Amino acid sequence: MTDTPASLGTRRAPYTDLRQWLAHLDATGRVAVMREGVPLQHTLAAIAKRLDGQKAACFPRPGGHAIPVVSGFMARRAWIAEAIGVPESGLLAHFRDAADHPLPCNEVPGHAAPCQQIVHRDVDVLKALPVPTHSEHDSGPYITAGLVIARNPVTGVQNVSINRIQVHDRQRMAILMLPRHLLAFYQAAEARGQALDVAVVIGVDPLTLLASQAIAPIDTDELEIAGGLHGAPLDVVKCVTNEVRVPAQGEIVIEGRILPTERAAEGPFGEFPKYYSARESREVIQVDAITHRAAPLFHTIIPAEMEHLLLGSIPREATLLAHLQRSFPNVLDVHLAIGGVGRYHLHVKIRKTHQGQPKNVICAAFGAHYDIKQVIVVDDDVEVHDPLQVEWAVATRFQADRDLVVIAGAQGSVLDPSTTVGLDFSDGAPPAHLQGASAKMGLDATRPVAYHEYVFTKVRVPGEDDIDLNAEIDPAGRLDFS
Ligand code: MN
Repeated sequence: MTDTPASLGTRRAPYTDLRQWLAHLDATGRVAVMREGVPLQHTLAAIAKRLDGQKAACFPRPGGHAIPVVSGFMARRAWIAEAIGVPESGLLAHFRDAADHPLPCNEVPGHAAPCQQIVHRDVDVLKALPVPTHSEHDSGPYITAGLVIARNPVTGVQNVSINRIQVHDRQRMAILMLPRHLLAFYQAAEARGQALDVAVVIGVDPLTLLASQAIAPIDTDELEIAGGLHGAPLDVVKCVTNEVRVPAQGEIVIEGRILPTERAAEGPFGEFPKYYSARESREVIQVDAITHRAAPLFHTIIPAEMEHLLLGSIPREATLLAHLQRSFPNVLDVHLAIGGVGRYHLHVKIRKTHQGQPKNVICAAFGAHYDIKQVIVVDDDVEVHDPLQVEWAVATRFQADRDLVVIAGAQGSVLDPSTTVGLDFSDGAPPAHLQGASAKMGLDATRPVAYHEYVFTKVRVPGEDDIDLNAEIDPAGRLDFS
């Protein structure tokens, strides 16, 4: 008998492509299929938004287009845990384990890759693909669920990220690159006067989608983290027009190049904080080919809805938990509140051992990511993923004159509109280095380590967690209420 640690790949997730996961959701009553021909402009997003967190939305022949659109299949924390095959309480630990144990990809030939069953060169993106226009003031159709894959021009190691992409005309698209790995690769290529080859992959299995959002060092290939999550190497295939490797089981792949020196206007676009990003000059993707399955599915993420927020927040939570636990082994769990757009408000659960310790945890959390604007620290009798319990802790264990930490003028999120008050926009947007200055607020909502009798003892009824109602309720039971 051999004994292999779980982290070394004994567990294989059952869903290796998007359609298997959708079939599972469908078989369990979690898919809604719309009438044919729902308009791609606004109506599709409006319907998907109404179903957010309840059912995945599928749109046959959207706007008359042959390729169906799907959305909202990762819109609950429990569904994401289910796709991985772990209980919700084990989600962060499992994600972190995968990030710590990436598996090199397995390259397959093009004829064995479903994503290359059909190859189009000299293609018109808006004719080839059903690209929706989402929010009221969006400047046009946007690809919102494209995994942008590029190779480091120096080391050849790949990077994966999701970037919003506005389709401008037949073969040109504008892309927003925040100051992270993809932009670093592009700047290295542009400095040599070269384009950066990319692939935009639309429609991947749930775990590859989640892995794309891992907060990993540059030169960690997120597709290898996807392999870690699957418990088996991810099959990849070389693009038909460049050297980028893409998930072979993907639905649609746009191959192209981010051009040096070229820029185009992009935006406004409704983003994750539920506000619009302004129109600005962005880099340009020149499209060279589109490959796809014989009958592909097009995935769109509705901005600021649950699928968008959870895909960003769960990998961040895993990273923040690891960061805090390095300094504080008594940090037990963290949660990025959905009301804080899955980015700005962090709840931390600790087993408090010393008076004042929550304030140290608050300061460490501010340093862990500049997006974090508010931290609430609670005790281990509070469910940190339940906003009602966190508010109860603030209501009953927090005093503002004693337990509040405020730091003025720190670095915050440039997408938080409250950071723009007082900035001068009369000559256009101020320089990037002046944007996003933000105050930080920390709340110590923990009880004293030692207290008198039952002052801070949460009321519970003995047995309340263990009652089996099916055993207690008598289906034939009757009382006379007359
Ligand atoms: Mn990366």
